[in-house]
Amino acid sequence: MQAPAPQPGIMEIELYQGGASKVPGVEDVLKLSSNENPHGAPESAVAAAREAAGAMHLYPSTDHAGLRRAIAEVHDLDAARVICGVGSDEVLHLLCQAYVGPGDEVVHPAQGFLMYPIATRAAGGTPVAAAERDRVVDVDAMLAACGPRTKLMFLANPANPTGTMIGGQDVVRLADGLPEGCLLVLDGAYVEYAGDFDGGLGLAGVRENVFVTRTFSKMYGLGGLRVGWGYGAQAVIDVLNRIRGPFNLSNVALAAAEAAMRDRDFVARCAEDNRVQRARLTEGLRDLGLGVDASEANFVLARFENEAAARDCDAALKAQGIIVRHLAGYGLPHCLRMTVGDAAGVTRLLEGMAAWARA
Ligand SMILES: *Cc1c(COP(=O)(O)O)cnc(C)c1O
Repeated sequence: MQAPAPQPGIMEIELYQGGASKVPGVEDVLKLSSNENPHGAPESAVAAAREAAGAMHLYPSTDHAGLRRAIAEVHDLDAARVICGVGSDEVLHLLCQAYVGPGDEVVHPAQGFLMYPIATRAAGGTPVAAAERDRVVDVDAMLAACGPRTKLMFLANPANPTGTMIGGQDVVRLADGLPEGCLLVLDGAYVEYAGDFDGGLGLAGVRENVFVTRTFSKMYGLGGLRVGWGYGAQAVIDVLNRIRGPFNLSNVALAAAEAAMRDRDFVARCAEDNRVQRARLTEGLRDLGLGVDASEANFVLARFENEAAARDCDAALKAQGIIVRHLAGYGLPHCLRMTVGDAAGVTRLLEGMAAWARA
């Protein structure tokens, strides 16, 4: 007897590889491969999680009212139009499940986040990659990639893994140029690192065809708890809530995320430190002769002469217990993505890079 055949598209999904976290034989590992917060989780969130853990025998809230209220107050949004998911990954999956089926297309930048094609294929749809221009999203190419079957357009801004951004005018041009019935999804995983850009929340507030996703995994230091959220038109939120699991977020995760959202001092401190350390890292890498675009996120993309050099550097860093991300899977085999650490982390990375360059 055979197992049933999976739905079309599923076997075309390449397994997502998370950032490595271990080096055999090395104890003091510096993990710079997943863009986690080097300062850890906010103490306020850890305390809230501990307290909530005492009630883990009880089912959590189904409507996430407390967390949605905190998000809405901090960002000046309508709480009824916020949806919370198991990481923003779940929100991306819900969007695909709700709006994409066999024969439908989803446009994403060629060097875009790998979850976009994965979530598209999981729903039976076809991902369509639009070429970028010098590692920056090309608005014209994105619009040219749209057709009558395009249901979603995914775009991280700032982008991962390039760290580059497109401006507010370009985002409006994308929203204006979309075919009828297509939703622009602005993935704001790194917005908190990008100065005073609102990540498109203002646009999503007034346009039915714009949706924003955000995460607690990066700036808020809660990657292990899996909390993200989305904001968009009430009609879209109502659709997504029908397919969202009623108990998708645990009470521990909800409590921690709410506390983290309200901890504006933590966010301000981390943003400032990232700005300073990102500049140090960018300059240090450029001094070594590497190509580095100005990053608006909490990582930088280092470009090497060729793939062999990138692989050689990756191995040399690993031997020193420093884990960065080689981007072969993103079509950037000559590049390494490096999370911006704290001051000591950046120093250790730059010293490791200098040792590799001398060898
Ligand atoms: C890290 C990241 C996310 C966050 O995903 P979560 O599921 O919320 O942890 C989303 N989009 C991009 C582009 C990312 O790099």
